[in-house]
Amino acid sequence: MPDRYAVIGNPVTHSKSPWIHQQFARATGEDIEYSRLEAPVDGFVRAVEAFRAQGGKGLNVTLPFKQQAFRLCAGTSERAAAAQSVNTLLLDRGKPWGDNTDGVGLVRDLGANLGRSIAGARILLMGAGGAAQGVLVPLAQSGAAAVVVANRTLPRAQLLAARVPGVSACSYEALAGQSFDLVVNATSAGLSGDLPPLPRGLFRPGGFAYEMVYGRNTPFLAMARAAGVAASDGLGMLVEQAAESFLLWRGIRPETGAVLAALRAQ
Ligand code: NAP
Repeated sequence: MPDRYAVIGNPVTHSKSPWIHQQFARATGEDIEYSRLEAPVDGFVRAVEAFRAQGGKGLNVTLPFKQQAFRLCAGTSERAAAAQSVNTLLLDRGKPWGDNTDGVGLVRDLGANLGRSIAGARILLMGAGGAAQGVLVPLAQSGAAAVVVANRTLPRAQLLAARVPGVSACSYEALAGQSFDLVVNATSAGLSGDLPPLPRGLFRPGGFAYEMVYGRNTPFLAMARAAGVAASDGLGMLVEQAAESFLLWRGIRPETGAVLAALRAQ
């Protein structure tokens, strides 16, 4: 019997995680089965327990359950504790243990796939939801010169920034006159065709725009490209965070290049 894993969320129908993990398993010779698990919005804990009772070894957690997954865990990694959010559950340790691989996925995509150095960069992180929570500490700890969090609901940005020494928060309006080497859009605005109100002159020369939403030309990507700024969507982050989860579960890091290229070609 192969070891069983799944991605749990709501909705989860369009998740690319099963395909990605099947490619990783094939490439590494690991015998696993990976499926989708759509839990009722009020039934996350029950769904995890049922999966574990059936022998499930691990879960990737996606919207809207990452904070609930953190609270469910008996123990977590330091980075998950800093994010107060869990996207990877290990269920074969007696009690659920959690990690958050979103931040390392973003940093690895920027550095290894996109050739962008974070060291010494002025970074703007847009958004203060689960995704921003997950990536803030890894970004801040990668040698950035400054990290600013901006969010539509300012108190959420202030709460998030207050957790990490040296990080500041502001509204979108207060960004006027500031410029950045890297702007990461961790909002879900692009999913509804929206763009937070960004001032002109936001990007420094040679700056880079990173959109966490993937697979669509969002207004943020369009704005950056129209301004001549290099940009990427979040597909590489998706693949890299999955590789880190696979490593946690199986003790082997899969190669990501071919999987990312195949997804891009789709
Ligand atoms: P979330 O917890 O629901 O947070 C949504 C964030 O977007 C909040 O900060 C919210 O601001 C902001 N927002 C939403 N609509 C907006 C608008 N029209 N204008 C300005 N701000 C707006 O969601 P999440 O978990 O952080 O996920 C955010 C996005 O990242 C999603 O689209 C998800 O697909 C993507 N993501 C990608 C990856 C990847 O691997 N590539 C991984 C994780 C997440 P308020 O606080 O004011 O409501």
